[in-house]
Formats: sequence, C-alpha cells, structure tokens
Amino acid sequence: MATYIVLLGPPGVGKGTQAKILAKQIGLVHISTGDLFRENIKNQTELGQLSQRYINKGQLVPDDVTIGMLKERISRSDCELGAVMDGFPRTLKQAEAFKIILDSMGDDVSIVPYIKASDKVLIERLSGRWTCRKNGHIFHSVFKPPQEEGICDKDGSELYQRDDDTVETAKKRLKVYVERTSPLIAYYKNQGILVEVQGEQAIEALAKDILAIVKK
Ligand SMILES: [Zn+2]
Repeated sequence: MATYIVLLGPPGVGKGTQAKILAKQIGLVHISTGDLFRENIKNQTELGQLSQRYINKGQLVPDDVTIGMLKERISRSDCELGAVMDGFPRTLKQAEAFKIILDSMGDDVSIVPYIKASDKVLIERLSGRWTCRKNGHIFHSVFKPPQEEGICDKDGSELYQRDDDTVETAKKRLKVYVERTSPLIAYYKNQGILVEVQGEQAIEALAKDILAIVKK
C-alpha cells in the first residue's frame, strides 16, 4: 500500500519548503500543485490550456481541472509508493475527489500534518518583502533587512513594496485561506488523521517535528 501525506498550512508558514524536505527524507515524490500547473501549461496539455484561460481572466481554476491534472500525475510510475501532497487538496470537493481516486487504487491518505502559526507571525512573514526599484533586489524587514531602511544595499536605489507584499494583501490571503480550508481541516479531523504542528519554529526543528508525526 502506498503512503499519501497531505501537508496543510496557511500561506507564509513554509509548507512548500517542508514538503520538499519531507519528501526527500522519506523517499517519496513531492507533488506541488504550483509545479503541476506550470508543467501542464508549459507542455500545452488540454488541462493546461484550460487552466491558462482561467488564470488569464484572473479567475480561480475550477476544481475539476485541478483534480484532472492530479489524477494524471499520481497515475505515473514514480508515485507507486505514494507522494507528499503540497497544495492539493485545497478544498473539500478536491479532498473528496482525491479519496475516490485513491480508493480506486486501494489506497487512502495516511496522515495530514497541519502546520499552524498565529496571524501575527504569518502577516509579518508575508508582508515583510521589499523590492529594489532599479534591479529588483529583494529584502525582508525581518529575515533580511537592508543596512539602511528603504535603501538597497547593492545599488543604493529605493526599496518599495509590491502590491502582493503589503499587510492588506497578506490579511486578505489569510482570510481566503481560512474560508476555503476550514471544511477541509474538519474533514480530515473527523477521520482522525489530522495532526497539528507548531509552525513558529526554525525550518530544521519544524522538519523534525513533521518527520516524527509521519513516522508514527
Ligand atoms: Zn538593488
């Protein structure tokens, strides 16, 4: 039987990084929805072209399209032993579809580590990015502050915040996340496979905690 691990967590919690580390440690494939979309769009698959149309219009890609891509992805031979899922499922509908797909292969989701962090910390992480006007050098008010506030260390040009990196946008993203994933979290909780992990710690310590949960 294969092992499917679904990693959940809000934007800014470091889920992608953790999914990569975990997949490497336990020798499973890392499936990121972002990568999967990019691959399908690049290869001009039918689903890739379809999703591109929604993205171009600034709309959410419908669940059916995402589920279709996912289904094709896990049918490949490198998923024989399972996978670490990063960004899928994202909605209850996707989770239910995922269960049916795995069921048909005699599998199921094994465990769902849910990485948590306070809004305060997430907003700080999501909104701390400053970009240099001249060459796009990137700084972070907490993790990589410039020597002089508002000035690029490398070329002395002005630092500004892109719309995506403001506190307002961060708050919006977190709100959307909670709305979309609350039913998903309840769904896995009811199945007794959701385990919460404290996300407000260093990358290595968090990776260790997640590995311990998965090994159990
Ligand atoms: Zn610069």
